[in-house]
Amino acid sequence: MSSFVSEIMAQVKAKNPSEPEFHQAVQEVVESLQLVIERHPEYRKAKIVERIIEPERILMFRVPWMDDRGEVHVNRGFRIEMNSAIGPYKGGLRFHPSVNLGILKFLAFEQVFKNSLTTLPMGGGKGGADFEPKGKSDTEVMHFCQSFMSELFRHIGPDTDVPAGDIGVGGREIGYLFGMYRKLRNEFTGVLTGKGLYWGGSLIRPEATGYGAVYFAAEMLGTRGQSLQGKTCLVSGSGNVAQYTVEKINQLGGKAVTVSDSNGYVYDPEGISAEKLAFVMDLKNVRRGRIKEYSDKFKSATYTPIDPKLDYNPLWNHKADCAFPGATQNEINGKDAQNLLKNGVYVVSEGANMPTTPDGVNVFLDHRILFGPGKAANAGGVATSGLEMSQNSMRLSWTRDEVDARLHQIMKSIHKAAAEAAERFGTPGNYVNGANIAGFIKVADAMMDQGVI
Ligand code: NDP
Repeated sequence: MSSFVSEIMAQVKAKNPSEPEFHQAVQEVVESLQLVIERHPEYRKAKIVERIIEPERILMFRVPWMDDRGEVHVNRGFRIEMNSAIGPYKGGLRFHPSVNLGILKFLAFEQVFKNSLTTLPMGGGKGGADFEPKGKSDTEVMHFCQSFMSELFRHIGPDTDVPAGDIGVGGREIGYLFGMYRKLRNEFTGVLTGKGLYWGGSLIRPEATGYGAVYFAAEMLGTRGQSLQGKTCLVSGSGNVAQYTVEKINQLGGKAVTVSDSNGYVYDPEGISAEKLAFVMDLKNVRRGRIKEYSDKFKSATYTPIDPKLDYNPLWNHKADCAFPGATQNEINGKDAQNLLKNGVYVVSEGANMPTTPDGVNVFLDHRILFGPGKAANAGGVATSGLEMSQNSMRLSWTRDEVDARLHQIMKSIHKAAAEAAERFGTPGNYVNGANIAGFIKVADAMMDQGVI
């Protein structure tokens, strides 16, 4: 490890103890930034890296709520306002029992670089709560969202901080959150993205992250004169990102053969057709059931429950060309990465945030496969949130085709920026370095211009 990386990491670990995901995210970025710092000592002198790893502000608050039986519960809410050098804080809210300060700091940190890559003027933030929406009634989710927003509303605004969805926060939750914000502020503004179509939402926002990850894979394949046509694809997750990843794979002529949830995964060698995907969407978005039901309904599929004794995930051990992790962080470890390569996978496009462990990333980079890291490959979601903000500001709505065309163009630009930065800094084909560097330089230059604040 160079002295620059070890100095920064010592500082991060001392100031943020017991936050392994944050350490992991910072380490990956600063390793890429060594290349930049060597050429740009002015960034080192201005302590840009030391400043960029320190959140501008962290909010942490109590979220009390009452369930349907009248019992009181208390959760913890968070918002990390990481960096606003190039625009208002922007990033999702995650509701999941695993949520803690370290996980949200990692997500907020990644968001800074991702948002910069989108070409739109958005800073980075992330938030959420250790609340489990699974198994709760709609009324309980509403009570929780209202309590959460009754604190958060005083810290956010369309020009300050614009949250969106993430794990456990979909259209239903955004609706309840927006309703409460509107009531408390007595204002109808674009303070959240992922809104419903009739109250300020954008067409294509629900689809954007999944579609974007597939567009990014198509761009990477294009560098080898190939396309997704006829490619077999492994997809993990069965939520927002995974569903629209499968939809776009189908549209571009590929075949998705897996989807999963936190209990297990289904493998359907015949492919998850549009009709089968409609079943998954109804199962997950309306009935809120478990993915196992897919194999009860479609006999071509087999279901494998999660086995915590295994040190690998069997989902990543099927013959395929492409992999689209779309569930959560650290879902592909070194062994999974080896299994993917052994089974013929040579394209990995990360729909989820940091789904591959550092060991796994090294396996992909060492073998020079087409590896699109989340901060580039899944930036389509936040980019389309940015487009929702633009439409809100102009008080008009673009058509589906217009938003999709803009999303597609943004994913091409992100691919180009990452590929060119990787090349410029001497690591051609390394999209990890490329995305980190291209995302960093724009924010770093803005911070240099704006002085020490
Ligand atoms: P959803 O809540 O819609 O879906 C998450 C999916 O992942 C579900 O199938 C869930 O299963 C599964 N999952 C969650 N946690 C785990 C776990 N610990 N182990 C195994 N499976 C798990 O979330 P999204 O689809 O919105 O988000 C998925 C990923 O994409 C996250 O990493 C998120 O940060 C990232 N992302 C999302 C964006 C967006 O626009 N929504 C934008 C950019 C990135 P179960 O139903 O059992 O919980």
